[in-house]
This record gives sequence, structure tokens and C-alpha cells, in this order.
Amino acid sequence: MKIHFWGTRGSIPSPSTAATPTHEFGGDTTCLSLAWGKDNLLVIDAGSGLRQAGLNWAREGRTSFTFLFTHSHWDHLQGFPFFTPAFQDGVTITIYSPRLPGAHAGNLIERSLHAQQSEPFFPAGFPQLRARFTFHEIQPDQDCKLTSGPDSLQIRAASLPHPGGCLAYRIEGATVGKARSFVFATDHEPPASSPNPLTRLAQDTDLLISDGQYTAAEYKSRVGWGHGTPELCLREAVAARARRLLITHFDPTHSDTTLAGLETEFQKSAQSSGIPVGFARQGQTIDLDPPR
Ligand SMILES: [Zn+2]
Ligand SMILES: [Zn+2]
Repeated sequence: MKIHFWGTRGSIPSPSTAATPTHEFGGDTTCLSLAWGKDNLLVIDAGSGLRQAGLNWAREGRTSFTFLFTHSHWDHLQGFPFFTPAFQDGVTITIYSPRLPGAHAGNLIERSLHAQQSEPFFPAGFPQLRARFTFHEIQPDQDCKLTSGPDSLQIRAASLPHPGGCLAYRIEGATVGKARSFVFATDHEPPASSPNPLTRLAQDTDLLISDGQYTAAEYKSRVGWGHGTPELCLREAVAARARRLLITHFDPTHSDTTLAGLETEFQKSAQSSGIPVGFARQGQTIDLDPPR
């Protein structure tokens, strides 16, 4: 299983400028892909990072895509109208997305993708896309299995504290007899107590990817905004006994210099936990399979 980060930024795309360089950690909003089994792809969220990913996959001639959405906030959907393969004949797109408590009738992500890709916001409406779509909903604590020949992926969800709701996912695949897993817990405020649904979901996982958008000082005035800090993510990682922690969903105002400084500081303070920690970078690939 290989994870690739196509977008690591929170809230809004943040292109690199001379005053605020962002090219090292990345300026595109949330989008990851997981390569699994022989030649399968799971795309997690469709932030602006999806645009470049789609161009690459169209060039490779890929025609089958499975998406997994965490929630409907714009920074997790906005790349979809620019996903080149969706405009092509012969492409199939399967979408798994949250059934959140208290949600309106109908599939939340299906409605949201149609809404953002319609007049007056976008000229080429969703119904004009040539790909064939199938939509499925996922509920917390409900297992979902993707299979492809002898390979399979197990997906389990847990609710996160975030305005409007958000799901964290534990994704587990078996390779050479050993199960590997990672947990993607984007947009969330630190859960008030421990153990909580996230701690249980992330128990003994190989990698926890978590939302540490703010510094501790920034968080003081942003309680209730739905995001956390690297230190609070580490608390979750320790409680869950995760083997590695990566921070993502960076604040749009944080330049590469700021993030590099915060990462170094965080790595020093996390040393006593024994958990390797770091900040994700757009363009980074992580191989979760054990060395052969
Ligand atoms: Zn977000
Ligand atoms: Zn959000």
C-alpha cells in the first residue's frame, strides 16, 4: 500500500509566493491516493490537489476510480470539477461517502458535487460528465470491504468532532501475510475525552494522519472552528498507540519557513513519546508495506 499526498493544505488553496512560499509543504487542498493490490487506486477527498492527480492518471490511461470522501466542506470537494477523467467516455467512478447523523435526505456528497458543479458557479454541469458514477454511503462503525481479485481493503469509519460532521477512516490491507493499516483523521477538533471513537479506530495503526492546522497559541482563539494542533494529535497517537504520526491540513497563512520551524519544534517535543512524527508534504509518497 502506497499513500501519495496530492494536497496537504487546509481551508483554501495557497499558491506559493515570494512573501509566503508554500512549495515545500504544498499549496493544494486535501487529496490523497492509495495504491493497493495489483493496480487499484483509492482516492481520498477531492481538494484542489485532485486536478494534477487527474491529469497524471488521464495520461496513464487509467479508467477506473474509487473515491472516499470525509465530509462535504469545500476544501475537500473543489478539485472535482477539474478532474479530467470524469469528462471522458469509458471511465467508471465509484464514490463512498459519509452518512452523517442529522444529514438532510439524500446522499450528501452526491448533492454537494452536483451543487458546486452547476450554474452560476461552473459552466460544465455535473450531468454533462461522461464517466459512469455509482454512489455508496458509509456510516460510522460499519465495515466496508473493497475487493479486486485476491486483494482486498477493509474500511472502517468513526465520527469526528467537526462543524457539520466528518468521518475518520481506518484503511487496512493485507500484504505478504501481514496486515498494514493507516488512519486518515482530517478536519477535527481534539475529542474531549479519551478513549473516544478516534482512539479506538486508530488502535495500533501503522500510521495516523491527523489535522494539526493551528499552533497552540492560535488554537486558543479558535476553539470550535473544527481543527486541532500537532500536540493534540500526538496525544491521540499516544492514546491509540499509533506507530507513526503525520500532520496535515496546514493553515493557509503558514509559509514553508513557519511549517519547517513548527515541525522541528514538534519533533523535539515528541521525542519522549517514542512515536516518529512529521509534517506531510505535497508530492510525498509513503510505502506502508514491510520491506521484502
Ligand atoms: Zn478541511
Ligand atoms: Zn471541514
